[in-house]
Amino acid sequence: MLCDDCKNKPAAIFFKEVLPDKTIELHLCEDCASKRGLLVTKKLTPLEILQKLLKQTSAQDEKVICPRCYMSLAEFKRVGRFGCSECVTTFDENIRHLIKQIHQNDRHIGRKSTKGTKKGFEVYKLREELKKALEREAYEDAAKIRDKLRDYGVEDA
Ligand SMILES: [Zn+2]
Ligand SMILES: [Zn+2]
Repeated sequence: MLCDDCKNKPAAIFFKEVLPDKTIELHLCEDCASKRGLLVTKKLTPLEILQKLLKQTSAQDEKVICPRCYMSLAEFKRVGRFGCSECVTTFDENIRHLIKQIHQNDRHIGRKSTKGTKKGFEVYKLREELKKALEREAYEDAAKIRDKLRDYGVEDA
């Protein structure tokens, strides 16, 4: 099915609005949908962003090829899964890059979380306290601090 607006690109988005006297149905490609402002309010989930990024294959992606199963990065992006365990190593850098883009995208949306930084600060403080407790050989205190650190998910304290 082609886009109702440009009658050129395949329709990717389907809108249906039921009004009292009629039902409006629209089949639009992504470009036309955003031109109409229909995509603005839509927040992408990290998975959707990943899927979108995965669709953006470049000529360079054809050249990144797994030495074991000969799957190219472009192919990996198309099928969305690895051909063999070696692919993981081969595409590692590229995938990291994708994940970084997702995080950046996340930040643009403004889903900022202060929890991470706060937790990091608490852990830092507790680690300092632990160090001091061990220095003055206050092992009971140290054990308590270790428990707190464990609550924060720190296992190596
Ligand atoms: Zn269109
Ligand atoms: Zn492979």
